[in-house]
Amino acid sequence: MRVRITLECTECHHRNYNLTKEKKNHPERMETKKYCPFCQKHTNHKETK
Ligand SMILES: [Zn+2]
Repeated sequence: MRVRITLECTECHHRNYNLTKEKKNHPERMETKKYCPFCQKHTNHKETK
């Protein structure tokens, strides 16, 4: 059971990534470090609602 999620940069709040996750593996909001092209560095990205 996969759901589509959007990851948002926690620094500039741009939505940089669309992906799917396995809901049973990650029932909570995910937070992960990814490259943000707007910040031009790796930042924490968190799942939006
Ligand atoms: Zn950013």
